[in-house]
Amino acid sequence: MRVTGATRVLALLGDPVEHSGSPAMQNAAMARAGLDGVYVALRCASGDLEGLMRALARAGGGGNVTLPHKERAASVLDEPSEAVRRTGACNTFWGGPDGRLHGDNTDVDGFRRALRAFLCDSRPGRVLLAGAGGAARAVLLGLLEEGVDEVVLVNRTQERARDLARSIGGARTRVESRAEALSGQEFDLVVNATSVGLDPSAASPIALDVPVRVGAVMDLVYGKEPTPLVRGAEALGIRATDGAEMLVQQGAASFERWWGRAAPVEAMRAAL
Ligand code: NAP
Repeated sequence: MRVTGATRVLALLGDPVEHSGSPAMQNAAMARAGLDGVYVALRCASGDLEGLMRALARAGGGGNVTLPHKERAASVLDEPSEAVRRTGACNTFWGGPDGRLHGDNTDVDGFRRALRAFLCDSRPGRVLLAGAGGAARAVLLGLLEEGVDEVVLVNRTQERARDLARSIGGARTRVESRAEALSGQEFDLVVNATSVGLDPSAASPIALDVPVRVGAVMDLVYGKEPTPLVRGAEALGIRATDGAEMLVQQGAASFERWWGRAAPVEAMRAAL
């Protein structure tokens, strides 16, 4: 990579950022596409976020936003996308020709693309979704946009699940408060959008043997080893995947927002 006076600067803003795979993934993508850009990770405090976003955007660049700043990023945009408005979170920003700060939440698109690849374009009818944090908001919106019939939400803090159902869910979403109530139910797909499973030795976050049938399992958590949920599903003969492909696909969607062209997804996957 040759950095010149014309090199476009993209940055990941969050805290912490040291562990992120995005710099490797995005720099590999720009190198493969022959683009003059560089992607760095900057640990930043909440009070510095808006200034950094605006300065990068005005300089012709942009970037990503990660924990804990996605909600704050959404609130400072001049031009939030529909996904930002509906989820209240922004993970991708860039400057428009008008100097205004544009932003999107590519977790929604990334989830939808990973889901379609996993299910070979078949549409799940009933879905069990665990979690009610930022990732669950993006997943719920993605599932509804994919046209699923019903989403059953479960979360440790039930009030948070109810808030999520109220703000995004609409008529196709309901909250289940007791795990036992899932007994006898059938789900085409189970999605884990909690952070449970980051420790591979932890217990599985969802009891897959309680519903009578689970068609497939998608865990947003990923790591070097299979997650507890993926391991548990495979032991029961259920098709399962972790969150690695969603990570690649949300990065590909961000790349497309910045560069206005298709992302070299294979190079991004290889870099991770
Ligand atoms: P978040 O906003 O902090 O939400 C965390 C969620 O996990 C909440 O629903 C929380 O429940 C639940 N939770 C945490 N500890 C729990 C425990 N011990 N038992 C039961 N539930 C627990 O985080 P997030 O941004 O939504 O991220 C969630 C996960 O998705 C993270 O692991 C993140 O890495 C992953 N993710 C992956 C991708 C990808 O591209 N693959 C993208 C985004 C996120 P309460 O509401 O009760 O606290």
